[in-house]
Amino acid sequence: MEHIYNFSAGPAVLPAEVLQQARDEMLDWHGSGMSVMEMSHRGKEFMSIAAKVEADLRELIGIPGNYKILFLSGGASSQFAMVPMNLLRGKKSASYVNTGEWSKKAIKEAKRYCTVNIAASSEDANFTYVPPQDRWNIDPDAAYLHYTPNETIGGVEFNWIPDLTRLNTDMPLVADISSTFMSRPLDITRFGLIYAGAQKNFGPAGLTVVIVREDLLGTTLAGTPTMFDYKIHADNDSMYNTPPTYPMYIAGLVLEWLKKNGGLAAMEKINIAKAKLLYDMLDTTDFYHCPVAKSDRSRMNVPFTLKDASLDEAFLKQAKSRGLIQLKGHRSVGGMRASIYNAMPLEGVAALVEFMKEFASNHA
Ligand code: PMP
Repeated sequence: MEHIYNFSAGPAVLPAEVLQQARDEMLDWHGSGMSVMEMSHRGKEFMSIAAKVEADLRELIGIPGNYKILFLSGGASSQFAMVPMNLLRGKKSASYVNTGEWSKKAIKEAKRYCTVNIAASSEDANFTYVPPQDRWNIDPDAAYLHYTPNETIGGVEFNWIPDLTRLNTDMPLVADISSTFMSRPLDITRFGLIYAGAQKNFGPAGLTVVIVREDLLGTTLAGTPTMFDYKIHADNDSMYNTPPTYPMYIAGLVLEWLKKNGGLAAMEKINIAKAKLLYDMLDTTDFYHCPVAKSDRSRMNVPFTLKDASLDEAFLKQAKSRGLIQLKGHRSVGGMRASIYNAMPLEGVAALVEFMKEFASNHA
C-alpha cells in the first residue's frame, strides 16, 4: 500500500511509532500479563503510567507546582459548562472573545450559567481574523476571560496571548486550547485555566486535559454535579472515578515521542515550516483561496476553497487515489481543510502541495 497521509481535523493522525508500540504492548504491557485496557486504574501498573503522563506533560510544557493537571472525559464540550460552573466564584458575568464556531459553542453554554459579555468578535468578517486586543471591551466585573486560541473549523489562530495585566485586574485567562495544544511552547503562567480534547495533538478521543491554577478551585455554582467539580478531580488525582485509562496510556506514548523529537520548540519549528509550505502555495494561485487574514492563519488547520466548487468532488477523489485523505472541509463551511498536526510529517504536506499544483494546472 502506498503511504497514506491523513489530514483529519480530529480524531487525527497519530505518530506511527506510537501506534506500533501500542500494538506491540496490546496483549501484555511490560510483562504484566494484561493489556492496559484490562488494568485497574488504582493498580500499581496503571498508577505508574498515569504518574509518568503527568510528569512528562509537566516537563514538556514547564508546568509549575501550583497548577493542577486533570485527566477527564466528556470532551472539550463538557468544559464549556464546567468552566463557568467552577470559575464564576460568586460573580455574575464572564467575558468571551468570539472568533468562530467553537467560541460560539462555549458562549452558548456559558449563557446557561451567567451573563456573557462579548469582549470582541470577528463575526463582521465571517470569522476570518483575530480582533486585536486594543479593540476589546472586557467587562471589568467578569469572573474570567475566555478565548479560543485556535478555531479548528475556521482555521484562525492567535499568534499572541491576550494580556490581562493591562486591565490591572487579577481576572484569569481561560482558553479552549484543543487544536493547538502541544503544537508550540506554552507559557502556562499566563493562564488561569486551559482545556483541550486530546484527539488532535495529544492522543485518542475520550481524554480531556484541564490545567488549572490551584487557587481558582473550591467554589462551584450551586447544583454543580460532583463529576463537574474540578476540585473533586484535583483532590483525587483524577481518580475520583475511572479515568479514560487507555487514551491516557496512548497520550503517554505521544509525550514520549514528543520528548524524543525535541519537545515543543522543535514541534513549533516544523509546524511553521509545514504551514508555510501550504500557505505559500495557496497564495501563489487564484485556483485556490484561503479566506483567513494572513497574520491570523492557523498552523494546524488550513481551510481553502477551489475557485470552482463543482470540482470539489473530483479534487477529493483524486487526492484520495494519491493517498491524501480526509481533506473535506467541515460540513458547516464546505470546501477543503487540511489539518497538519504534529504527527503529519513535512513530506505529507509536500505531497499535498504537489498534488494541488498538479490538479490546478490540469483544470486551469
Ligand atoms: N473546541 C475546539 C477548538 C475543538 O476543535 C473541538 C473539537 N473539534 C471541541 C472544542 C469539541 O471537542 P469535543 O468533541 O472533544 O467535545
